[in-house]
Amino acid sequence: MILLWSIADLLIAALLVMPLIATMMWAEKRFPIEPAQPRGAVRVDFKLAALNVLPRLLLGPLSGGCAAMIVNAAGGGFIVLRADGWWFAVALAVYVLATDVAAYFIHRVQHLVPALWAMHSLHHSAEALTLITGARHFWAEQLALTALFPVVAVLFRTPDTIIAVASAFYFFFDACVHVNIRVPFGVFGLVVNNPQYHRIHHSVQREHQNKNFCKLLPLLDLIFGTARLPARGEFPSTGLGTGEAALGWRDGLIWPLRGYFR
Ligand SMILES: [Zn+2]
Ligand SMILES: [Zn+2]
Repeated sequence: MILLWSIADLLIAALLVMPLIATMMWAEKRFPIEPAQPRGAVRVDFKLAALNVLPRLLLGPLSGGCAAMIVNAAGGGFIVLRADGWWFAVALAVYVLATDVAAYFIHRVQHLVPALWAMHSLHHSAEALTLITGARHFWAEQLALTALFPVVAVLFRTPDTIIAVASAFYFFFDACVHVNIRVPFGVFGLVVNNPQYHRIHHSVQREHQNKNFCKLLPLLDLIFGTARLPARGEFPSTGLGTGEAALGWRDGLIWPLRGYFR
């Protein structure tokens, strides 16, 4: 019965997300940053995203359980967030802000620690950014991060509704910042993360390395000295810049260990 409900939930989520995805795919064709993205690179994106999503569906409860153990051991949920009446908006804002700050620092550590970069570099190896690139991560990466760094859960006792709304919001944003849509935000690009701002984070150019780490708020990059506002019309090429790229299923499965299998 529970399985049936889970399938029903997935179907409803798919029905809600489908029109959104269709609209963005249409806009990617109509107003592209890169009009002629190599089809092979886009196909690889789909494969790597699938490899990431499936294990997360299967192993998600395991990493969630590990996170719950850490939260309980730390006597978690110090601050209780309320979801009734106007408190909902306040709690949502606090939760999103805390999540963004945590995500910002975790992302910086992913670029700093070689073992974490070995996984995160799969996301950065994308040479054609599209809607799907948001889900292109090494399959064990998010499982490990969720299991080991439940920072926000340790700090806050958060109602499920707030977590659900914030998760849907972040899901939408992860897709949005990678879309191949040319939207010139100008100076407003520092208000909220967007495709041009995040493209600098994926850029092959040396001067763009370790810039624009934020998930949602460029303000965090400004505060911590990692912001780089793109110039007008600046849409650099993306990828690792080492000539190395992920080629398909096999690379997606073994990415951090690929050096040992050549
Ligand atoms: Zn990164
Ligand atoms: Zn990205």
